[in-house]
Amino acid sequence: MSVNLNSPITELPLVGPQYAKKLKRLEITTINDLLHHVPRRYLDFSKTVNIADTKIDDIVTVSGKISAIKNQYTKYGKKLQIAEVTDNSGTILAVWFNQTYLVQTFPVGTKVSLAGKVGWYARKKAFVSPEYEIMSGTKKSVHTGRLIPLYPETAGVSSKWLRGRVAFAFPNIEKELKEYLPNTVISDNKLLKYNSAISSVHFPADASNAEFGKRRLSFNELLFFQLRSIQRKQGWQKNKVLYMLEVDQTIVDKFIKSLPFELTDSQERSIKEILADLENDYPMNRLLEGDVGSGKTVVAAATAMVAFSSGYQTAIMAPTQILADQHYTTLRDVFKKFKLRISLITSSKKRADVGKADIFVGTHALIHKVSTFDQVALVIIDEQHRFGVEQRAHLVKGTGKNKKSPHVLTMTATPIPRTVALTAYGDLDLSTLDELPRGRKKITTWIVPNKKREGAYNWITKQIVNKNIQVFVICPLIEESQKETMKQVKAASAEYEKLTKIFPEHKLGLLHSRLKAKEKDKVMESFRKGETNILVSTPVVEVGVDIPNATIMIIEAADRFGLAQLHQLRGRVGRSDKKSYCLLFSEVRGQKIMSRLNAMTKTNSGFELAELDLRLRGPGEIFGVKQSGFPGLKIASWQDIILIKLARKVAQDAVENEKIYSKLFDYIKSEQTVAN
Ligand code: ADP
Ligand code: MG
Repeated sequence: MSVNLNSPITELPLVGPQYAKKLKRLEITTINDLLHHVPRRYLDFSKTVNIADTKIDDIVTVSGKISAIKNQYTKYGKKLQIAEVTDNSGTILAVWFNQTYLVQTFPVGTKVSLAGKVGWYARKKAFVSPEYEIMSGTKKSVHTGRLIPLYPETAGVSSKWLRGRVAFAFPNIEKELKEYLPNTVISDNKLLKYNSAISSVHFPADASNAEFGKRRLSFNELLFFQLRSIQRKQGWQKNKVLYMLEVDQTIVDKFIKSLPFELTDSQERSIKEILADLENDYPMNRLLEGDVGSGKTVVAAATAMVAFSSGYQTAIMAPTQILADQHYTTLRDVFKKFKLRISLITSSKKRADVGKADIFVGTHALIHKVSTFDQVALVIIDEQHRFGVEQRAHLVKGTGKNKKSPHVLTMTATPIPRTVALTAYGDLDLSTLDELPRGRKKITTWIVPNKKREGAYNWITKQIVNKNIQVFVICPLIEESQKETMKQVKAASAEYEKLTKIFPEHKLGLLHSRLKAKEKDKVMESFRKGETNILVSTPVVEVGVDIPNATIMIIEAADRFGLAQLHQLRGRVGRSDKKSYCLLFSEVRGQKIMSRLNAMTKTNSGFELAELDLRLRGPGEIFGVKQSGFPGLKIASWQDIILIKLARKVAQDAVENEKIYSKLFDYIKSEQTVAN
């Protein structure tokens, strides 16, 4: 058999085109992929006993010979396969359902191993639907007598089948799994060797051995991820800046003084970090991370000020038209005194218009359509999590040594721990806004059951009348979908109708993504100006909308949203020094749902919620990054901060000491050639 690591999976016996297709769904196309298909968990069949010593409810493995087997038909039309298995100590029954072929598989006299829970059948001790395998000669057991891996499966590909293929492939390629890390790295960090790691996840001696195997494979994944980031970063830094900027501190200070508030310490720190980048001869590529409401926009504005005072343009990209409109309005206000020309790109805008602007704002798609980037020295991308690495690559012009790029600042509100951000976005420099502006009051959050709905509406009426504040009403999420569906729009319209009757004295607005751009503008504008009291909206307002006078957020069917979304939605209020409230309407009272909603009432911090979310949902999915373009991991978890830190350290060490890590870099090169 001459399979090797990179052989297509179809070179294994029993794997034809049909299986190959199914395996593709599990992202398995080569033998290497198969060996990196890590079990979800294990069944412990490692305890092997004599048949006479089996006890009811024990989970064990026994070995013996088939001493009788037959199909039996019940009066309900079911087919049972009943076998007797005998060893030197005694006999036990084994029963299966609807697998008539077993009678041929196990003729009397066949040596078998059975594993499972000991129970009763027809008042006799029996294994019901046990795992089984035929034993012959010195064959090692695969499905019994050990910790049995349960793999992520797909239709037509069972764990049992996968176990068989892994057991076949592994001995053939074991020798190829050469260690590529320096010995000291292995021993200092208690890592398993590469080949033992693969063996340990598929054939663990015990639970801790399996865990260690997975740890090493996770480490590999994180290390390669990190190294790729470093490579990308080094690649980016070989670019030249499109336009050298001159940082005129006096102008920046003047701008900051002109603001109606004082900057927070972390805003000041971030601006400093950004300005330092702007003086490099390679383009900035920085991520500004800050919880909702932490004030990222003014940091972006201060940066744009530098491009302006150096005589160049800034392009600001927003994920939605609503946000683009808002940035346009905000920036027009803060730059009023500075004679900056700001242009909003809408679908009807002509190129000529953009040419005259110092800053232009628009959605990503529109900006690329309408503008040339000839005079753009700075690109600001808001709510980064909707855009990826590829979009940044678009900004690079020229080839080879003549690659040039504008400075790029990306902004995100995804509250991920700094260590995770440093790895996940390792190709970017990172600035964090880790505090909210002074004077913000805690948003009070209530869970409101149906019977208190009327009371809540009365209270809201009073708040509007007495305090002149405004209200968001977010309609239930109907389907998890990136695009807004017609159903969702209808639900919002119905809610709007209903609320018009409940609040006859007030002006209501309705917002959803099927409205024409002009209508959307009108609705938002009227709400922004305070003419509309209540804005009924589909969850489209989730990201970024900033209307400080809106201080009440109502979320209908709050149970349908994840914590991350709830946090984003609630972040639309509490954006001034006025006291704000969030009312979570929910009829559903499941335990999981209640702990999620209760978490919302306990804290306002995205980072704390992220941690709670982790505890509620368990590791795997990190807070708020689902469907968000956050880089996926196959084996490792973004929750494993300790391992992430370790991988970062080793990656850094490796690029600084390439000689010591020569085997690692050779390995990466060979992997890349295979991939290409
Ligand atoms: P986000 O980080 O969510 O994008 P914004 O930039 O929209 O937040 O800012 C939220 C609100 O806080 C805005 O109304 C903004 O004017 C205000 N703001 C920003 N910085 C400060 C500050 N240092 N002090 C007081 N208010 C601030
Ligand atoms: Mg924002």
